[in-house]
Amino acid sequence: MADPAPIEDHDFVVIGAGVSGLGFANWIRERDPAARVLVLEREAEPGGYCRTVERAGFVWDYSGHFFHFRDPSIEAWLRARMPGHDVRTIAKRSFIRYAGRDIDFPFQKNIHQLPQGEFVECLVDLFFRPTSETPPASFGEMLHRKLGRAITEKFLRPYNEKLYATDLDTLDPDAMGRFFPHAELADIIANMRPGAADGGYNATFTYPAGGAIQYIHALLRDLPAGTVALDEAVVAIDRGARVVTTPRRRVRYRHLVSSTPLPALLAIAGLTPATRFTANKVLVFNLGFDRKGCRGVHWMYFPDRTLSFYRVGWYDNIFDTDRMSLYVEIGLPHDAQPSRAEIDAWRTRVLADLARERVIDGHQLVAHHDVVLDPAYVHITKDSLHWTAHYQRELAAQGIHSVGRYGGWTYCSIEDNLVETRALAAQLA
Ligand SMILES: Cc1cc2nc3c(=O)[nH]c(=O)nc-3n(C[C@H](O)[C@H](O)[C@H](O)COP(=O)(O)OP(=O)(O)OC[C@H]3O[C@@H](n4cnc5c(N)ncnc54)[C@H](O)[C@@H]3O)c2cc1C
Repeated sequence: MADPAPIEDHDFVVIGAGVSGLGFANWIRERDPAARVLVLEREAEPGGYCRTVERAGFVWDYSGHFFHFRDPSIEAWLRARMPGHDVRTIAKRSFIRYAGRDIDFPFQKNIHQLPQGEFVECLVDLFFRPTSETPPASFGEMLHRKLGRAITEKFLRPYNEKLYATDLDTLDPDAMGRFFPHAELADIIANMRPGAADGGYNATFTYPAGGAIQYIHALLRDLPAGTVALDEAVVAIDRGARVVTTPRRRVRYRHLVSSTPLPALLAIAGLTPATRFTANKVLVFNLGFDRKGCRGVHWMYFPDRTLSFYRVGWYDNIFDTDRMSLYVEIGLPHDAQPSRAEIDAWRTRVLADLARERVIDGHQLVAHHDVVLDPAYVHITKDSLHWTAHYQRELAAQGIHSVGRYGGWTYCSIEDNLVETRALAAQLA
C-alpha cells in the first residue's frame, strides 16, 4: 500500500473561500500576523455565493446581491481594501407586483395602495386578527396572528411559499429573523400619511462596479500568496488527530473553521445527523437584453402563484446602463434536481412570464447565464435550530468551528458573515 501523504501543519485551516472563510483569514491575521493560515476551496475560483460572471458586456452575480451594512465599521473595513473603487450607495426602489399594480414594499405597510375594497379587507382583518396567550407555533401561524388573514393570504403566504418551496407551517415562527419586516398596527396606520414612506428592512443598499466579486477581491488583497488553495476540496476530517484530507494532501490544524453547509461538514467529519436539514434551492437566470426596459426599479416581488419567479431585479438601473440586465429567481424544493433540459424549459417559461408582466416588450435576449444555488434559503425549524446549536457546540469542543450562512444553517447577510468571523478570530487568537 502507498504511504499516506506527509502531514503539513497549520494553525488555522479554513474550509471555503467565500466571504466567511476569507473574512476569518483576514481577521485572524490582523490579530496574529504570524499565524499559519490555509484556506482550502473546492471550486476553481474563490467567492462562493459572491461570485460574478461577465458575458457580452453584462455583469451578473450568482444571484441578486445588493448589500446592506448596519455596522459602519464593517463597511469601512471592507471599503478600505478597495481604494478608488466605484461603490455606489443607492436609495432602494422595490415594489410588489400585485394584481397588475406596483405596490411599495413591504406589503403590510402599504395596504392603502391596494384597491379600496382590498384595502378595507386587509385593514379589518388586521384589526380583528386572532389573539392568543400562547406564542405562534409556526411561521405561517405567526403571519396570520400578527398581520391578519387578508395580508397573509394576498402576499405573505404565496410569496414566501414560492420562495421557500415548502409549507410555511413547518417553519419556525422566527424563520426569517430580522429580515422579516414586522409591523405593528400603529406603524401601518402611520405609514398611510402622505409622504410617510417606509421601505422595509433597509432604505439604501450599496453595490460595487464589477459586481459582488469585488468584495471578494478586497478580502483577498492582504492575504499572503499561498494562503488560498483553489480546486482543493476537503474530503475527510479526522477529528481525533485534527487532520483534514484533500485529494492532494493531509493537513493538521489547531483550529478548523468551516463554511461548508453544516450537513456536509457532519458527513466529512463522520457524524450522522440526528435530523434532516432541508433548504430550498434557487434557480437564478441572469438575462441581458438589447435595450433598456423599466426605469426606477431595483427589484420586484411577484406573489402570483401562476408566475414562475418570485423576484426579479434590474442591474441596469443601478449604474443606469443602456441595456436591460435582469436577475430572475425561482424557488425549488429541497429534493429538486433539475436537468439541463428542464432548466432550459424554465428559461422559456420565464421569458413568457416576463412578457406577460410587461417586463419585456419585444426585447431581444442577447446573453444569458443560469445557476442553481443549493442550498439557498435554509428551512429554519425548531429541530434545525436545536440540532445546529448542538452540533456547533459538539464540534467547537473538538476545535471545529462551523460558521457562515450555511455552516450556521441560518438566514444572514455578508455583513453578518464578517461580524461572526471577526468575533471568532478574537476568541481564537
Ligand atoms: C438568493 C440569495 C440572495 C442573497 N442576497 C444577498 C444580498 O443581497 N446581500 C447579502 O449581504 N447577502 C445576500 N445573500 C447571502 C450571501 O450570499 C451569504 O451570506 C454569503 O455569500 C455566504 O458566504 P459564506 O462564505 O458563508 O458561504 P458560501 O458563499 O457558500 O461559501 C462557502 C465556500 O465553501 C466552499 N466549500 C464547500 N464545501 C467545501 C469543501 N468540502 N472543501 C472546500 N471548499 C468547500 C464552497 O465552494 C464555497 O466557495 C444571498 C443569498 C442567496 C442564496
